[in-house]
Amino acid sequence: MTDNSRAGYSTRAVHAGEVRFNEYGSITTPIVQTSTFIFKNVDEIRKLVDGDMERFEYGRYGHPTQLAAERKLAALEEAEDAVLFSSGMSAITTSLLFLLKAGDHLIITDDAYKRTLDFCKTYLERYDIECSVVKMCDYEAMEQAIKPNTRVFFSESPTNPYLNIMDLERLTNIFKSRDILVISDSTFATPYNQHPLKYGVDLVIHSATKYLAGHNDILSGVVLGAKKLTDPIREFLKITGGVIDPNSSYLLIRGLKTFALRMEKLNSNAQVVAEHLERHPRIKRVYYPGLPSHPHHEVAKRQMRGFGSVVTFEVKDDTEYALAFLSSLEILNIGPSLGGVESLITHPATISYYMHTPEEKLALGIKDGLIRLAVGLEDTEDIINDIDQALKKADAA
Ligand SMILES: *Cc1c(COP(=O)(O)O)cnc(C)c1O
Repeated sequence: MTDNSRAGYSTRAVHAGEVRFNEYGSITTPIVQTSTFIFKNVDEIRKLVDGDMERFEYGRYGHPTQLAAERKLAALEEAEDAVLFSSGMSAITTSLLFLLKAGDHLIITDDAYKRTLDFCKTYLERYDIECSVVKMCDYEAMEQAIKPNTRVFFSESPTNPYLNIMDLERLTNIFKSRDILVISDSTFATPYNQHPLKYGVDLVIHSATKYLAGHNDILSGVVLGAKKLTDPIREFLKITGGVIDPNSSYLLIRGLKTFALRMEKLNSNAQVVAEHLERHPRIKRVYYPGLPSHPHHEVAKRQMRGFGSVVTFEVKDDTEYALAFLSSLEILNIGPSLGGVESLITHPATISYYMHTPEEKLALGIKDGLIRLAVGLEDTEDIINDIDQALKKADAA
């Protein structure tokens, strides 16, 4: 099944991108574990060079398992093409390095992924690429930040850890009459919950490490969009070299088979947990786009099918209390990342922002009582009970 544009979402997750009858008759797409592809004779080399033959040549230029995974992802994002990378950061850095050159200007929102912000603010500067950081959801500031040399606008939705939601239609309206490429890191939304390309976003990026692979076992990243935009990025990747290996490509395909099913359950698990936390006397505040109390709930409802698995909340504004809570958990694991089958919980003030001073954390809104929970696929009851018993222990500590 390769042309699957009309099939339902779960059918696409299971079948899209894969050859229906491969040469071995194996139902799974083989892991073609090779670094090079040999030629039967010199005539084949000639045909390849003349463009008369489509075939693989060398691992860094692409391989069959990668291609199947890319086609599946393109079908799920409803994009013309997908290019896979060895990590989400490889997808982001390779794309931005390709799209920008000395003298260009880039706009990025302030609550973008920390490493993406680092790259734009600290490293692109070294290549004489100027970067403006604007406040997330301040559409006037976004428009005012535009300069004659602005080439790229980069943002995310939802964002980490407050799950701010960008109104994608409003955003692309600002940029569409100008020669500025709009890129959206849609990792927290996934192609199950949101389709930024439909709103006029030019390129969508995901850390496929998270929901897409879904099992906390590989790193990968993907860029999706029109072929005229992804083709030159693919060419550039052949030089920068951050390619996904055959084994990870296979695990990504395998993870994607249950993508629709996982997302349904993650969306509903997180909604139930968020509602429970909002009622809980020990919880000061809950941030989840699926709750009417979230400042961007209406926009989220309009442009998303579900709201994902990340629920952020505040306990007592006290690091000792927050860490006692984490230490008392018996099922949820403490760790970064999200979107996998195992629930993961972090205390951003100590885990992700430990290099920042208290003043910097305050400016970023990272409070001492802030907890980010990436709900997994455990039974909803067990997740809730684990949180409740750990809060009780933290109270007693
Ligand atoms: C994790 C993440 C990245 C980086 O992806 P890696 O696969 O870890 O390199 C980028 N953006 C967002 C929103 C992420 O959550």
